[in-house]
Amino acid sequence: MNEFDIIRHYFTRQPCRPEGLTLGIGDDAAVISVPEAHELVVAMDTLVSGVHFPDAAAAGDIGWKALAVNLSDLAAMGAEPRWATLSLTLPEADENWLADFSSGFFDLAAQYRMDLIGGDLCHGPLSITVQVHGLVPAGQALTRQGARPGDGIYVTGTLGDAAYALAEAVVTSPDHDYFFHRLARPQPRVVCGMALRGIATSAIDISDGLVSDLQHVLDASRVGANILAVSIPVSQPLNQALGEEEAVRVALTGGDDYELCLTAPVAEADRLRAIGDTHQVPVTQIGTIMPSPGLHIEGRNLEIPERGGGYRHFN
Ligand code: ADP
Ligand code: MG
Repeated sequence: MNEFDIIRHYFTRQPCRPEGLTLGIGDDAAVISVPEAHELVVAMDTLVSGVHFPDAAAAGDIGWKALAVNLSDLAAMGAEPRWATLSLTLPEADENWLADFSSGFFDLAAQYRMDLIGGDLCHGPLSITVQVHGLVPAGQALTRQGARPGDGIYVTGTLGDAAYALAEAVVTSPDHDYFFHRLARPQPRVVCGMALRGIATSAIDISDGLVSDLQHVLDASRVGANILAVSIPVSQPLNQALGEEEAVRVALTGGDDYELCLTAPVAEADRLRAIGDTHQVPVTQIGTIMPSPGLHIEGRNLEIPERGGGYRHFN
């Protein structure tokens, strides 16, 4: 199979939403139109073999996750996903691998009726870059900058499962499949993010770890925070595997969950609960924004590395 056969066979599909897509795959570039009174929200993330996933990871999981981590960024902005581009560097043109990879990618794309509108294909060490394009009504994007003293701090879902799945111990766990799924096939909180427009004062997705990512919000908003350790939501399997105290420690520092952390006035608590009920994802208050800088974690004698110890590529 040559480059053009691969693109045609594995990556060219009928568009889910032809409206707004003037020109898709096949020309030098795609042409899209942004509806009136909307803004385009653009994010990009790369997954490198051996850094972001093990060399032997299943191709379908890689395809899913390459899109999921990008959708999580759009979710944190409150944007509606619309288009994606894909830059794929492959050591070989393995047809089974390509079939599985594209299935994983398009399974998630279909959930949000996104179209793949272009990309690039190169020969080299396995690396996947996805760029996503979403829409928000003008001026309504959620950012890291709007947290105000007195706001509640909330997270979606439960934290720590993905980090535990990365640990060796999970192999012997009776909940192995649950943990592995949380790591390999994260479900980006896209519909929650969109529902949070006009309610959340700030938002970020949790990719590096709660402490590390919340600190970005505090820096951008020039505020501090008090977090209550016992209020951090952890799953039943994680509680069972590690015990409450260690589960909370992993939930505070572990990465790869792709849940949202947001702030909102406490008067919005009912609306936040309703969003959680509608989308069947718990939205839990874990603390409060404070006027002076610093992140304080109350209630546990926890050893948290400075700034949460989130993964950094260049130290
Ligand atoms: P160029 O030579 O101009 O860089 P390419 O031959 O790389 O163009 O790509 C031809 C067409 O196929 C373009 O429309 C491009 O966006 C699309 N394309 C290339 N690689 C991918 C891919 N991995 N996924 C989706 N579309 C792709
Ligand atoms: Mg070209």
